[in-house]
Amino acid sequence: MISYFCACREPIDSTASPPLTLYDPSTFHPLHSLQFCAQCNQLKCHRCIQYQITSKFCPQCVQQMSIDSLYCSRSCFTCPQCLLHLLAVTSESLRNESGKITGKIFHFKCPSCDWSYSTDVIKKPQALQSIIVSIRDSQDPVTTRFAELQEFYSKQLEVSNRKETSRYGLKTPSFHLPSSESSPPQLALLQTPPTSSLTHVLLPLPTAVRAAYQTSCKSCKEILTLPSKEAASSRLSKTSNATDYIPKMWVTRLRGDDRKGYWTQNKSTGLLLSFRNPLKEPISIKITLPNLQDFNASAKVRVNVPCSEFEVGARPEEDDRKLENYIKSIPTVLLTDRSKISRVELMTRPADSLERISFKKRVSDGIAGESSESSFSDEPADSGINWTSIRVNVEVKGGELQAIIVPFYVEVGRKEEKYGYWVRVELGSESSSEATLVS
Ligand SMILES: [Zn+2]
Ligand SMILES: [Zn+2]
Ligand SMILES: [Zn+2]
Ligand SMILES: [Zn+2]
Repeated sequence: MISYFCACREPIDSTASPPLTLYDPSTFHPLHSLQFCAQCNQLKCHRCIQYQITSKFCPQCVQQMSIDSLYCSRSCFTCPQCLLHLLAVTSESLRNESGKITGKIFHFKCPSCDWSYSTDVIKKPQALQSIIVSIRDSQDPVTTRFAELQEFYSKQLEVSNRKETSRYGLKTPSFHLPSSESSPPQLALLQTPPTSSLTHVLLPLPTAVRAAYQTSCKSCKEILTLPSKEAASSRLSKTSNATDYIPKMWVTRLRGDDRKGYWTQNKSTGLLLSFRNPLKEPISIKITLPNLQDFNASAKVRVNVPCSEFEVGARPEEDDRKLENYIKSIPTVLLTDRSKISRVELMTRPADSLERISFKKRVSDGIAGESSESSFSDEPADSGINWTSIRVNVEVKGGELQAIIVPFYVEVGRKEEKYGYWVRVELGSESSSEATLVS
């Protein structure tokens, strides 16, 4: 699992490096859930973001509603049984002998489930919402149920009091029911509370409005996302998704190494760390590792990153929603031979880089392990249009760990700017059953 650190739980004024809260897994988040403040040059989690409602709209009639409304004020309703929007409400007019309309009945029908409802004859013209509100008030199941139970228990109390008085000449209220043999006939009828007579009446629900939010950075007040001015448009006129600023990262086994997990006790395991640049300009990346012992209890963990400073090319101008363009942005180690487009793309990737990222069995000692050849090169193992893969070697000795934690600091250089962030990578062992990661 790869997650990204937000420094908001760090004690105020702390300048500790690595940060004191780096040991706390709750300070890490998946990249897609984070925002990036371009003013602070920092990742921002949900706790660091301020939300402000900019408008409200009805998802059914897509009309803008006032900011304090909770439900659509027009004739929009939702099925009370399956919560689907009711598309059409029909009305039936009742006329007198001279043809004058004397009242209307409204019919509601869910297009999905079997729920339907018809009003009584409505004689006074009024908005459909207020008709339903007044029916709901008159048929409020809680009020009605309370009245039913109140009646039941007061009758029971009355009967019980009568019995107590006649036996002892005293009036002692009691809620205990007498046994059925001794029950007066009228009490037998009252032994079980009545079941609600209204459970079957499900009235149409008014459609709840939706809100559009603007988000801003809590520390510098910079606006991070701004919804479009059009009511009900899902477009945003400004976004600050972390995925648009921070390179996407993958940790993988070498090509052709289909063993599970990312390390084996007492052996050196070669992995690939790939970065894809989401920006339209080239970036430089520098990786720094803290002391990993602090994160992995009794295990001795050594992660060697021979090429810790490298460049990643710019995101191409071509439309990457087209598959033939998009596939150019996929690191070679992630390409499979399961689809034709991927097989064709693999053939265009240089043979020497394929060689560098491929797993080779060590024949000398017959143990499954990769060749150490090129493992310690300080050049990237492979690179393409906007991505770069580097070799990483992991060694784990001792400890009873199923997974190791590898935090590291990534510094991104972009034009004149530099910004950095902490990443936490959790790597499962070869024997661990849940040793699948990537993304
Ligand atoms: Zn935060
Ligand atoms: Zn509406
Ligand atoms: Zn329904
Ligand atoms: Zn900020």
